[in-house]
Amino acid sequence: MAKRDYYEVLGVEREADAAEIKKAYRRLAMKFHPDRNPDDESAAEKFKEASEAYEVLSNEEQRAAYDRFGHAGLGGGAGGGAGAGFAGGSFSDIFGDVFGDIFGGGRGRGGVQRGADLRYGLELDLEQAVSGDTVEIRVPVLAACGDCDGTGAKPGTRPAPCPDCGGAGQIRVAQGFFSLQQTCPRCRGAGKIITDPCGSCGGRARIEKRKTLSVKIPPGVDTGDRIRLAGEGEAGMHGGPPGDLYVQIEVREHAIFARDGRNLFCEVPISFVDAALGGELEVPTLNGRVKLKIPAETQTGKLFRLRGKGVTPVRGGGVGDLLCKVVLETPVNLSERQRQLLREFQESMAGAGEKHSPKESSWFKGVKDFFDGLTR
Ligand SMILES: [Zn+2]
Ligand SMILES: [Zn+2]
Repeated sequence: MAKRDYYEVLGVEREADAAEIKKAYRRLAMKFHPDRNPDDESAAEKFKEASEAYEVLSNEEQRAAYDRFGHAGLGGGAGGGAGAGFAGGSFSDIFGDVFGDIFGGGRGRGGVQRGADLRYGLELDLEQAVSGDTVEIRVPVLAACGDCDGTGAKPGTRPAPCPDCGGAGQIRVAQGFFSLQQTCPRCRGAGKIITDPCGSCGGRARIEKRKTLSVKIPPGVDTGDRIRLAGEGEAGMHGGPPGDLYVQIEVREHAIFARDGRNLFCEVPISFVDAALGGELEVPTLNGRVKLKIPAETQTGKLFRLRGKGVTPVRGGGVGDLLCKVVLETPVNLSERQRQLLREFQESMAGAGEKHSPKESSWFKGVKDFFDGLTR
């Protein structure tokens, strides 16, 4: 079969520079790479053709010779092992350069694969998160199948060595002047094929299980913290190590306390009598009740700080505080007698507003000034 013109193969102009040639080759290689087109003869042919064209056109000397004399200029003809110039080394340079960022990284040798990491959302009460706890969780995991010992082959049988790669998991494919190593498409790198699959896992070697794990919650964790349980993720494939399990903490809303970092907040309702006369309130903390002294003439919204009654964060640093906000409660369901007393109380305040309610007085004064300013 007559060889196609190399520029035509790559779909570039004869004046194309090195970058354009490389780009064109990358595009074709991505499309026709045997790893992406297992069992596709025509794709393999196209990949081979593009590789050959790239091999020549990316080499200045070879390209010059090809430009002048066509295929004949390459001595011996491409595909015939032309020239010592194209030793394996030069190809691996190209391979690393062109493919490094496309296929690099994730593919393990011989099909060995680390198991996937798993994430488990764990809801905790505020008390558990602050004091720490040990919690049992049940997580679904892909574990090695016990019936076939994780081989995927029916008990009593063994996976057979892959006939295509002889068990190596890699095959060498001739590509023009050179040969290249690639993952065996038949066994996908495992080196073995299962002729008689295990009935329990259907040959997949792993089954879904639920396992119970005991998770130690360190004191001070908060929403968004993660606890890593090494090796408790999915089982690996073909002898690969298992992944990790990440327990993602989510702290439930608390009926009384809100947390912000190391501090806790709560609201404490007080009667206006207590607020006016002062007194002692019982306020809750995470470790029980404590007494809080309220001075006379306390206004609503005032914050009282209880030092050391907050949280010690899991990453260390000192313990925080509990901030109690007192909120004045207007009395409801008053009896006639109570109303009467309040009216009498009000009369006793008459004419002395500025003395007893300075805020109210100055506010009304402000409003009055405001409207006077408008009408002027
Ligand atoms: Zn099995
Ligand atoms: Zn194979």
